[in-house]
Amino acid sequence: MSAPSGVLVIAEAEDGAPTDLSREMLGLARRLADELNDGLGGGVDAVLLGEGLGDSAGELIAFGADRVHMGDGAAYAVYLAEAWMAKLMEIAAASPPVVILTGHTTMGADLAPRLSFRLGTTVATACVAAAVVAGRLQATRPCYGGAAREVLSFKTEPAVLTVKSKSQAVPDRDDGRSGAVVVVSTDVGETCARIVERKVQATAGVRLETANVVVAGGRGINGHEGFKKAQELADVLGAAVGASRVACDLEWCPPSYQIGLSGRTVAPELYIALGISGAGQHMAGCGNAKTIVAVNTDREAQIFQSSRFGVVGDCQEILPPLIDELRKLKSGSKT
Ligand SMILES: Cc1cc2nc3c(=O)[nH]c(=O)nc-3n(C[C@H](O)[C@H](O)[C@H](O)COP(=O)(O)OP(=O)(O)OC[C@H]3O[C@@H](n4cnc5c(N)ncnc54)[C@H](O)[C@@H]3O)c2cc1C
Repeated sequence: MSAPSGVLVIAEAEDGAPTDLSREMLGLARRLADELNDGLGGGVDAVLLGEGLGDSAGELIAFGADRVHMGDGAAYAVYLAEAWMAKLMEIAAASPPVVILTGHTTMGADLAPRLSFRLGTTVATACVAAAVVAGRLQATRPCYGGAAREVLSFKTEPAVLTVKSKSQAVPDRDDGRSGAVVVVSTDVGETCARIVERKVQATAGVRLETANVVVAGGRGINGHEGFKKAQELADVLGAAVGASRVACDLEWCPPSYQIGLSGRTVAPELYIALGISGAGQHMAGCGNAKTIVAVNTDREAQIFQSSRFGVVGDCQEILPPLIDELRKLKSGSKT
């Protein structure tokens, strides 16, 4: 068995192409691999299992992979831990990495602890940064409900990290890069579990993670009606709708809308926070927005400290005329 080296990225695909987070992880992997090898250029392997992946291998190479292990077939249409684990263990055994990166996603959060257990090593979840300091890997992640950050080092190899979306810069695409593609067998053999039925939740409109504008509602939006208004505003602006945890817990909107420490991370150009107090756990998911506009009845609300523009007022009074005015502007009846 060869000595551990390089970084292995467990990529994910959506609509047949690597996700933005996969690209973010490749950028991080490239930096770590170079640092771990003292600038001599360490290897970055990526593994992608799915169905209908097209030229995803080329994409992964263009964003920093040196070698892509790609399994493309019906057996990988839906994530199944057993099938993924078997292939990942084979890949990790053939060329043991020093670091394994996976997304802090539903799949990554399931895979990472399994992998670290099977490899007899350590996992650090929800990482927002990683670097090599004095030859040792250090990973940073939020702690105490987002109020502080902790820096971890690892006593075992490989270190397994789940990486939060929007925490890393996406590297520039370089179509001139070359790399190897290793075909992963689509024969997953007998598995104890099998997918019996799959229900895909219908999603309409703009995707939260990639939206340029996000309209988010909190407790102050005041129920389902408030979210209807938020959706109307989002439709006029071509925005996605998000929410605070409280609004999701109150079932005013689906749990998938949740933004924050235990929800999704967004980094839009414009974030409109309606009736959201601005707790640290919420801001952990939207603090990287370029411009935050907050509407809140409480002029002392914490959200105003992070906002570029603040409106002290009641969402229910402010939203209807705002939506009307924007509609008029859009239809060109007013300039
Ligand atoms: C471990 C942990 C993880 C967490 N993860 C998350 C997370 O991922 N995401 C998240 O959001 N939270 C998370 N939380 C919860 C977080 O601490 C807050 O409780 C939550 O963000 C508050 O939601 P909110 O702002 O909607 O509600 P509140 O804090 O109750 O704020 C409501 C705001 O609305 C204003 N308001 C009231 N009426 C109106 C009106 N008519 N018009 C305008 N404004 C009005 C009020 O002044 C107030 O500022 C987490 C907490 C913990 C402990």
